[in-house]
Amino acid sequence: MTLDMAQDQTPTRIADKPGDATVVARSDVVVVGGGPAGFAAAVAARREGASVTLIERYPYLGGLAAGGMVLVLDDMHNGQEVTTTGICTEMIDRMAAIGACVYPPPEERGQSWELFRKWARWGAFDFRAQSKPAPIVMAAAFDPDGWKRVSNDMITEAGVDVRLHSWFSRAVMDGNRIKGVICETKAGRQAILGDVIIDATGDLDVAAAAGSAFVHGSYILTTVFRLGGVDTETAERFRFEEPEKYAVLDRQAKRVMGGSWDLWWLKTPLPGIVWCNCPHMTGLDGLSVEDITKADFEGRKRIYALVDFIRANIPGFASCFVVDVAPQLGVRQTRLLEGDYVVTKDDVQDRVHFPDTVARGRDYYTPYRSMLPKAIEGMVVAGRHYSATESAQKMSREIPPCMSMGQSAGVAAALAVASNIAPRAVSPAAICAKVRAQGGDPGDRPSANAKIMENAA
Ligand SMILES: Cc1cc2nc3c(=O)[nH]c(=O)nc-3n(C[C@H](O)[C@H](O)[C@H](O)COP(=O)(O)OP(=O)(O)OC[C@H]3O[C@@H](n4cnc5c(N)ncnc54)[C@H](O)[C@@H]3O)c2cc1C
Repeated sequence: MTLDMAQDQTPTRIADKPGDATVVARSDVVVVGGGPAGFAAAVAARREGASVTLIERYPYLGGLAAGGMVLVLDDMHNGQEVTTTGICTEMIDRMAAIGACVYPPPEERGQSWELFRKWARWGAFDFRAQSKPAPIVMAAAFDPDGWKRVSNDMITEAGVDVRLHSWFSRAVMDGNRIKGVICETKAGRQAILGDVIIDATGDLDVAAAAGSAFVHGSYILTTVFRLGGVDTETAERFRFEEPEKYAVLDRQAKRVMGGSWDLWWLKTPLPGIVWCNCPHMTGLDGLSVEDITKADFEGRKRIYALVDFIRANIPGFASCFVVDVAPQLGVRQTRLLEGDYVVTKDDVQDRVHFPDTVARGRDYYTPYRSMLPKAIEGMVVAGRHYSATESAQKMSREIPPCMSMGQSAGVAAALAVASNIAPRAVSPAAICAKVRAQGGDPGDRPSANAKIMENAA
C-alpha cells in the first residue's frame, strides 16, 4: 500500500492493491443487479437453457421496484394495447394472484371523470397526456414485498443461482473481453466467472469498471416513503367535492415538502397505506457518497414536516404515520452507456422503429445496439443505464421497458453462449423470435404510428 501526501502531509490518495478473490461460482451467464432488468434477464437466460448466476448487493431482489418502493408499473400502454409483455406480465399476474397487485380491468380503461376518480390514485392514468381528465390506461399498483416474494418464486422455479449480499467491485478482464466479476462480501472477495456478463446495476457499474465509455447523467433524487393510517376515501372525496379548498391545501403541502409530482400520494394494495413519490431533490449526484447521504437526511426532514402539515390540515390524513422510507434512495439516472447506438429524445418521441429493435416501452423501441458497450466483448447492458441521451433516458426508463430490455438481454446472452459467439454477433431477429416464444413482445413488429428506420448503419 502506498500513500500520496499533500504538502501538509495529509494523505490524498492511497494506492491499494486489491487482494485475491476466491472463485465461488462459474456459469454461462452472470447477471449483476437484481432489479427489474436483471431479474428479467436472469429468468429469460435460464429459460433458454443457460446456467445463470444473479448477483445482488442488497438482501432482496427488486431494485428500485421493491427497495426503492416505486410502486406503479407504468409506461406500458400505447393507447390501444399493452406493449410491454412477457416477464413483466407474468410478474403482474402472479402478484395479482396473491393480492399484491391492483390494476384497472380493460373495460375500465378510457377517458371520463368517473374513471379518473376511480383509478387516478392508483397511478393508472396516462401521465404524459395533456387532456383533462388524463385517460385511464393499464398500469399496475403493487406491494413491494409482493414483488420480492414473486421474484424469489420465479427465480427459484427457473433454477437461477442467486447470490445476495454481494457488492460488485471489479471486472475480470482479458484484454477487452470480460470474463467475470469480483464482489465484496462478508466472506471476503469473491469471483464469479461467466461467458457473458449482463450489467443490470442501473448505474453501469460493471461496464464502467470494464472500461466502457459512458456519460455521467443526472436527474432528481427522491426519498420515497409510505404512510399508514390514511382514510383514502375521505381524502379522495375531499379532492373531488371541495376542489378549491383541496387545491389550496395540496399546493401548501407540496411547498412544505419542496418538490413532487401532481399526485404526490397513490394507493397501494394494502388498505390505508399510500406511497409518496416525493420529496424530490435537485442538484445531487446519485453516485456521490456525500450527495446521497445528504439526500437521506434532507428527505427525512421534509417527510416529517409534511406529515405534521397534512395531519393538521388535510382530510383523511389526521391519523397518518410514516410506515417506512424506502431503503433504497430514488436515483433515476447516473452513468449512461455510450453504446454502439445512442438513443435520442427524437427517437423516443418520434417512435422510431429500428431494424435491430429487440425491446419496447409504451410506444417507443429499443435497438440491440444500445445494449452493447463499444469496444468491450462478452457483455450486454440492460435497464435504466442503457445507451441513451440524458433526455431520452428520462422518457424511457420506467420499470416495464427495463424488464423488456432485460428479457431480451437474457435471451441474447443465452444465444451467444449456445452458439459460442460474441453477444455482438447474435442476430436481433433470433433474439426477437425467442422472446416471442417466451411470451414477450420484443417490438420487432412496429405499430402503425412508428417511424421506420431502414438502416442500422
Ligand atoms: C423515485 C422514482 C420514481 C419512479 N417512478 C416510477 C414509476 O412510477 N413507474 C415506473 O415504472 N418506473 C418508475 N421509476 C423508474 C424505475 O424505477 C427505474 O428506472 C427502474 O427500476 C430501473 O430498473 P433497473 O433494473 O434498470 O435498475 P434498478 O431498479 O436500479 O436495479 C438495479 C439493481 O442493481 C443492484 N446493484 C447496483 N449496483 C450494484 C453493485 N455494485 N453490485 C451488486 N448489485 C448492484 C441494485 O441494488 C438493484 O437491485 C422511478 C424511479 C425513481 C427513482
